[in-house]
Amino acid sequence: MNRTTGNSPFSQPDEHGHFGRFGGVFVSETLIAALSELTDAWRAARDDETFWAAFQHEMAHYVGRPSPIYHARNWSQQLGGAQIYLKREDLNHTGSHKVNNCIGQALLARRMGKTRIIAETGAGQHGVATASVAARYGLPCVVYMGAEDVRRQASNVYRMKLLGAEVRAVESGSRTLKDALNEAMRDWVTNIADTFYIIGTVAGPHPYPQMVRDFQSIIGHECREQMVKLAGRQPDEIIACVGGGSNAIGIFHPYLDEANVRLTGVEAAGKGLHTPFHAAALGCGRAGVLHGNRTMLLQDANGQIMEAHSVSAGLDYPGVGPEHAWLQETGRVQYVAASDDEALAAFHALTRAEGILPALESSHALAHAARIAPTLPKDAIVLVNLSGRGDKDMHTVAEYGGLQL
Ligand SMILES: *Cc1c(COP(=O)(O)O)cnc(C)c1O
Repeated sequence: MNRTTGNSPFSQPDEHGHFGRFGGVFVSETLIAALSELTDAWRAARDDETFWAAFQHEMAHYVGRPSPIYHARNWSQQLGGAQIYLKREDLNHTGSHKVNNCIGQALLARRMGKTRIIAETGAGQHGVATASVAARYGLPCVVYMGAEDVRRQASNVYRMKLLGAEVRAVESGSRTLKDALNEAMRDWVTNIADTFYIIGTVAGPHPYPQMVRDFQSIIGHECREQMVKLAGRQPDEIIACVGGGSNAIGIFHPYLDEANVRLTGVEAAGKGLHTPFHAAALGCGRAGVLHGNRTMLLQDANGQIMEAHSVSAGLDYPGVGPEHAWLQETGRVQYVAASDDEALAAFHALTRAEGILPALESSHALAHAARIAPTLPKDAIVLVNLSGRGDKDMHTVAEYGGLQL
């Protein structure tokens, strides 16, 4: 159920992991063996019904799936146009869509006989999801995190430690996500025999972008069934925020062949696309290589990777998954951006109208929904992927000048 049919124009990547001119494998010689072992194991698991049965069991009993779809009637009425529906990934165990992918990769690690998990994290959300799943399966877990991020995200670091993970602060470079990525790769090269590297979004070298997409596609597959039951038809438009792009590809992918469903990804415009303080790799970036694949990246005139900025830590990534770069080029998905201010406004509006505190990442998707809903007829349907809950963002919201804590 998590696979696309072979004859769709969207059944990418090819066997080398290319999505058009994007994707692929750009790693040092020493990682090739590990990646081909992973690719073979993934190919076999993907064709094995018992693997997906185990995945579905965990999704139901550990994560709490299927996550519901909620018709946000009050907010829709206030906006005065389209009906807005929310896919409630915020209700998953650990509070976002990230756990879907962590469970999938941990099951694959077990199947491969790996006994140790590593991950890298920027904001700490992927680190927390990985540490939870590692605890669940009794696997020791090391999480690499830039020293600067360790300082900024103290409560997530504490959470990971409570869950039994070891957090290694990386002191090199800018001491942020890029540097943590390099350290995680280095660890993997050194400990290939027993270690599984869990990547948190649809980035990295092949097979990660495809594998993470297939795990997250459970979101869109559920929506296809739920929308028919709830509204009698599929939505006119689906909107999701894009950091690395995993929640977006998860809801979009099962709809790629439905030409009548408009698909819109929303990047973080930060302080504005005309400033250097944003995270719009698709909107403003150029093609280049990062994290083992070719994709769209924020880079300066010399090709150096630039720091991304967003009020939401989870969108603060200078690249984007290669499948999104390709989907933008084909025109099947349109990508827009929403600023910090717009995301905060949507955060407050949804919270007050519906009693749901959205994550600041998800608030970027909500901001675009708020922009287009008033321009659409009252019987139009817009489905927003509510990728996570906002409890983690209380301090940021208060600092930004909402109600004081
Ligand atoms: C990590 C995160 C994101 C961004 O990651 P994607 O791979 O783009 O989905 C979005 N929303 C939430 C709640 C997150 O935790």
